[in-house]
Amino acid sequence: MKISVAEQAGFCFGVNRALKLINEYHRQGKKIQTFGPLIHNVPVLNDLAAKGIGRADSLADIGRDRTLCIRTHGIPRDIERRLKRRGIPTLDATCPLVKKGQKIIERLGRGGHPVLIVGDKDHPEIVAARSYARQVKIINSLAAARALPRSREISVVAQTTLDTAFFKQVVAILMDKAEKLHVFNTVCQATQERQEAVRRLAPRVDAVIVVGSRISSNTKKLFQIARASNRNSMRIETCDDLRRTRTVARLKQFKSIGITAGASTSPQELDNVKKFLQKL
Ligand code: SF4
Repeated sequence: MKISVAEQAGFCFGVNRALKLINEYHRQGKKIQTFGPLIHNVPVLNDLAAKGIGRADSLADIGRDRTLCIRTHGIPRDIERRLKRRGIPTLDATCPLVKKGQKIIERLGRGGHPVLIVGDKDHPEIVAARSYARQVKIINSLAAARALPRSREISVVAQTTLDTAFFKQVVAILMDKAEKLHVFNTVCQATQERQEAVRRLAPRVDAVIVVGSRISSNTKKLFQIARASNRNSMRIETCDDLRRTRTVARLKQFKSIGITAGASTSPQELDNVKKFLQKL
């Protein structure tokens, strides 16, 4: 069986940076908690918990002597203000590319016309991003784009992990919706590279395995892209998901398998999957 790993897969710059920041802080003997899960990766979160790096899911959970690590997705502005008012020290691991999007939304919001975000309204990145302007509308489907009323001016940005092909389709619809359309392609480079890599890989192999958390937005998009050109695409969280007898029997039928992984999947997990397949 031939195994091919996508040219770009796994940990992105933002995730590597967040892990480096929190681990260095912890090594200095300082007490720290993350605000929500630092990244969408259960083994990594378990590893942090084993080191004594706890997690606060609300302001009430924050320990008195703890620094709070802001995760890669960022936090809403009102939470940021409340943390400042309460004098809670923070270590900001918000990805700089997420921050860039927040700054664009803030600037556009000052222009007085609505800002459109294409993304998932419940995703933590978007929950934080929408707090940067008053008039924000979030859409996540072509139908929602078509249903928008005509406006004089529309500005549109994207969730960093959006499928770029989908963003282009939305923008094409918006061309007929406004006299002036300002487009900011805020899909991050790591996402674009991983999407392009799986677009190239999926049609060349018999099956594709996409490794990443079930709640990871970018993993979900990679799976959708793989599935669009390869019906034998499967999504797993860890290598253990492949060990079931029926799955092993299915995998053995393929002559070539491609592997890709979401931006919060570690190189070790990717390697585990590769080694497991090589032994079949
Ligand atoms: S996927 Fe992109 S925006 Fe998100 S953490 Fe990684 S580099 Fe940053």
